[in-house]
Amino acid sequence: MRVIGSGAASMAHISQFFSKPLNIVWIFDGKSSRMQRLAKSSVLFVSCEHYAPRHLSACTFRCLKHIRCLSCNEIRIFPIRVPKRPMSNSDISDLYVAAEEILPTPSEIKSKLPLTAGAEATVRNARAVIRSVLDGNDPRLLLVAGPCSVHDLEGAKEYAQRLSKLAEEVSDVFFVLMRVYFSKPRTTVGWKGFINDPRLDDSFRLDEGLFRAREFLIELGEMGIPVATEALDSITPQYLDDVISWNAIGARTAESQAHREMASGLSTPVGIKNGTDGSISVAVNALQTMRQPHHFLGINQDGQCSVLRTTGNPYGHIILRGGGHPNYDSVSIARCEERLRQGELPVNIVVDCSHGNSLKDFTRQPLVMKDCVNQVVEGNRSIRGLMIESNLFEGRQDVPDDKSAMKYGVSITDACISWEMTEELVRDARQKLLPVINEAKQ
Ligand code: PEP
Ligand code: MN
Repeated sequence: MRVIGSGAASMAHISQFFSKPLNIVWIFDGKSSRMQRLAKSSVLFVSCEHYAPRHLSACTFRCLKHIRCLSCNEIRIFPIRVPKRPMSNSDISDLYVAAEEILPTPSEIKSKLPLTAGAEATVRNARAVIRSVLDGNDPRLLLVAGPCSVHDLEGAKEYAQRLSKLAEEVSDVFFVLMRVYFSKPRTTVGWKGFINDPRLDDSFRLDEGLFRAREFLIELGEMGIPVATEALDSITPQYLDDVISWNAIGARTAESQAHREMASGLSTPVGIKNGTDGSISVAVNALQTMRQPHHFLGINQDGQCSVLRTTGNPYGHIILRGGGHPNYDSVSIARCEERLRQGELPVNIVVDCSHGNSLKDFTRQPLVMKDCVNQVVEGNRSIRGLMIESNLFEGRQDVPDDKSAMKYGVSITDACISWEMTEELVRDARQKLLPVINEAKQ
């Protein structure tokens, strides 16, 4: 174990904040040029001049903003685990609140992980293409492909590398985005995603989750892979807005006023799912709502409670995901088109081939996708995109107590189709769609 630092930082003191013994930690206080060189030569440790973790105020850590353990990648952002302010003895407030911890603000995390030029170009281009597809100016289909949820960044990166090649290969027909769902809505309880519990062990390190999520999304942006995600709460987008190209509002939240308000201010096109019971009205109402200006409570980039005033987002579209029964068939699509027209909304539909449309059996996703492709081949023009839940390997797994027993590249939420199946399906769809897309381009 070795500590490099300008102060006599106590390794024992740092170690207590990590779950495993540390190997090497580099500390950089932003003052020493030797430290600056070290920090530049690695991405391990970044500085801060004025961030004082309250409970460590007298110690040498007052300059630190985050630490990364070289061996296990664990990150600590200061202030870490700031204890809840002393609870009052009142029996009227916070009755069921056990603790509160202060997170770094969006602008603090962004100053540590700024949007790179490469990632910015990816996001700008992707949003422009998606808008163009929704406006009917680009005849290609959107394809949102990736795991139900990302729990392991290494596996997700391998998936991204493969998807990037496939995206290039089929780019004459599909504009491909990777599903990078870091927040998961649950019907009752369960793992709520990487941001909520990045270590999958109920330690709920949201500080680490937000930091690593942003870091990963920037990396994908640098690789040229646009990202699709679900906006599940109204605070996370303030941390990730500039690295996302497309957002979904899920089936469980499409009816929520708070989510509709949020969608009205998101910088990306937004897909709204039909309700879990199959209700199209929920999505149509949400689409009408999100086009309007709203005034609601939220936080700003400095983490301050704010009134957010939005202009309304014109790039909403419906995502058909099935409910009691599937709704991707041509009759359901025609009925949905009619509902959108009645609601004076753009007739743009994305079909989610998983969830209610596959009746939760991943092996049916190819059937759904092929059916939709056939509809487009036969003249449908409202289907603007398709979504598949796909991973390196098929199926799903429960998270075992012993994490070393986890299978690499296998979903821990909804079951996914394998990479091989994904490639076959997408290549086959491209072949079938090429003539109609080429014709539409002329
Ligand atoms: C999902 O996309 O994984 C998901 C939970 O979707 P839905 O909101 O349609 O259930
Ligand atoms: Mn899912």
